Amino acid sequence: MCLICIEFDRAAMSVKEARRALGEMSVKLDPEHVREVRAKLAEAEAAADDDATDP
Ligand SMILES: [Zn+2]
Repeated sequence: MCLICIEFDRAAMSVKEARRALGEMSVKLDPEHVREVRAKLAEAEAAADDDATDP
């Protein structure tokens, strides 16, 4: 857990914003956690795409 996870889970941050924040913070974060956050963002983005294509 990091600030990005907290803000993103509260929906205070969009995927785009979280990605940018991750780019800025990735040097301070555990590389393994960076991978986890990236996976989480990719998943959220895929889910948003699914929503957008629903009739
Ligand atoms: Zn985190």
